[in-house]
Amino acid sequence: MKQLINLFDIIVVGGGHAGAEAALIAAKRGKTIALVTLDTTTVGRMSCNPAIGGLAKGQIVRELDVLGGVMGHTADRAGTQFKLLNRSKGKSVWSPRAQVDKRHYEKIVSGNVFSHENITVLSGEVVDVVVIKNAVSGAVLRDGTKIPCKAIVLTCGTFLNGLIHIGQKKIRAGRMGESGAEGITESLVSHGFFSGRLKTGTPPRLDKNSVDWSKTTITLGDQNPTPFSYQTITFAPPNVPCFTVKTGIRCKDIISKNLLQSPMYSGDVGGVGPRYCPSIEDKVHRFSHHDSHTLFLEPEWADSDQIYLNGFSTSLPEHIQLMALRTVGGLENVRFFRPGYAIEYDFFSPAQLKSSLETKDIAGLFFAGQINGTSGYEEAAAQGLIAGINASQYIDNSEPLTLSRDEAYIGVMIDDLITKDTLEPYRMFTSRAEYRILLRFSNAHSRLLKKSKKFSLLNGSQFDRIQTAIDGVSAVLGALDKSISPNQINTRLKSLGETLLKHAAPAKTVLRRPSVSIDHLPNFLFSDLNKHHKSSPLYGESFIEAEARVKYVGYIKRQRNQVIKMQGQENRPIPRNFNFKNINSLSNEAREKLSLVRPQTLGQAMRVSGVTPADISVLAVVLSAI
Ligand SMILES: Cc1cc2nc3c(=O)[nH]c(=O)nc-3n(C[C@H](O)[C@H](O)[C@H](O)COP(=O)(O)OP(=O)(O)OC[C@H]3O[C@@H](n4cnc5c(N)ncnc54)[C@H](O)[C@@H]3O)c2cc1C
Repeated sequence: MKQLINLFDIIVVGGGHAGAEAALIAAKRGKTIALVTLDTTTVGRMSCNPAIGGLAKGQIVRELDVLGGVMGHTADRAGTQFKLLNRSKGKSVWSPRAQVDKRHYEKIVSGNVFSHENITVLSGEVVDVVVIKNAVSGAVLRDGTKIPCKAIVLTCGTFLNGLIHIGQKKIRAGRMGESGAEGITESLVSHGFFSGRLKTGTPPRLDKNSVDWSKTTITLGDQNPTPFSYQTITFAPPNVPCFTVKTGIRCKDIISKNLLQSPMYSGDVGGVGPRYCPSIEDKVHRFSHHDSHTLFLEPEWADSDQIYLNGFSTSLPEHIQLMALRTVGGLENVRFFRPGYAIEYDFFSPAQLKSSLETKDIAGLFFAGQINGTSGYEEAAAQGLIAGINASQYIDNSEPLTLSRDEAYIGVMIDDLITKDTLEPYRMFTSRAEYRILLRFSNAHSRLLKKSKKFSLLNGSQFDRIQTAIDGVSAVLGALDKSISPNQINTRLKSLGETLLKHAAPAKTVLRRPSVSIDHLPNFLFSDLNKHHKSSPLYGESFIEAEARVKYVGYIKRQRNQVIKMQGQENRPIPRNFNFKNINSLSNEAREKLSLVRPQTLGQAMRVSGVTPADISVLAVVLSAI
């Protein structure tokens, strides 16, 4: 066996979103990293859609930004159109999203990785991990090279035994045009891990010159958008248009008649797919009462001839994809650069991980990203970041960074992953967070700054910028303490159908009325806000956050009380080798599931699927006797 002389602190396997974040944060914290990847020219690649953020995912990008991740700042630089989504709903679920130039994004991320003095990028395929006395000590490449290390972060994405399906055509690959990875699954299984099979799909890429743009509808981003990153000081992004078209009854008929040619339906694809990100076949089948679906035409990079057809993910044969699309107004003569396809791949049940993302059975081995059964760039990046931080904490023999469900969407995601069955690819939604009123995109700074400081995840000036954003919100809240007289607000209140003020009252009190928004309040209240604050790209957002704190004060208080009530149970530790099988008063299902998941706390045990409140009472009694 060949041996590389270098001893790296950490080997990061994979250069996707998870791998890049893991390597960069650990390198920033002074660790030496070998980033081993199948193709070094694809580091930072966006596998699928040209967008970052979106519902709940925008919150994750914000959280990453406070915790030292690069996704938000990179998206601000590579973004082509920015929008705050969900504005018709409560502010707690507003989420930033950006269309992104994929090539520019990849170039920035790979530039960061390649230029970091602590990161060595190596081309190779990891086929085994070396384990001595239940702790990781190196990785083995396909050519026999052994690289010693103190910790490994595995971020293999969709590449493990990847199998692409286009109709009956099958291609062994990790992504279209890239080879898959074979051998590492089998090696991990031999170390005692259990794996499963999942699938996901991607839409065709269209030739821009084959679309009749006169028949499409233009969609633009916000005029004064908010950036993802607290580190973005000047922000004047372009507002590149996207376009929409609508499928009709003829398209639906063609897809319905050919459903059995889709491997997703013929039973040819073994893995389970994402229900919430349905293929066009799924939409036609499951929502058969709808004759029309909107498709989004998104340019993949600046001056791109390649258009991403969002909403038409499919694994139908290429000629059927074309036939169906050519019934759509504007796409009558459409040509493909690449057809849509589905991919099947191995994943490892995340129930085998601790909340630090270290495996329960092999010390120093961390899993992050799609290998844990998730789907999406943001979910992958967040796990990569946490695994990268905790791999360096592990080497320093220091406590890991973990996030709770009331602290961050990232905390919700990891807790869900390690306690719930992975029946389909996991994607974040606001509905997964029971404390979502506390988890606003606009308060990520206040939620996570303290932890970020504790783990030294940013430098001094970066912390200062986050503090400035927090101070901006406090300044607006301070302004809302001022009084408004009836003649300063009554005309507005009348137009809103609100009762008129009889006496002067604090602006906050007026703002609590349901139909009054902060924009309705007189400008003089905010005239003292300092120039620095007014010129910040986060100026508008400081008003959004201040308004949320005023309007939701009752709900916020209630959720905080719930958190406090739960905390006693939540953090109650369960000993590492606790034998659930010995507790006869637990239900059979609870004994089986708890033995499999091995929760670290009573809180985690509560969320294991199949465990009832009665089981938890039994467990609480047994634990109190230990
Ligand atoms: C076809 C397709 C469709 C998708 N559709 C969607 C979608 O609709 N919505 C959505 O949100 N997300 C979608 N995704 C998922 C999204 O792209 C991923 O969730 C995300 O990019 C995963 O990031 P990752 O870092 O975990 O892995 P990846 O970005 O897949 O990166 C994996 C990395 O690991 C390397 N690697 C793998 N095995 C080895 C090995 N043994 N040795 C060395 N290197 C190795 C690879 O070279 C690669 O660099 C799709 C992905 C694909 C491929």
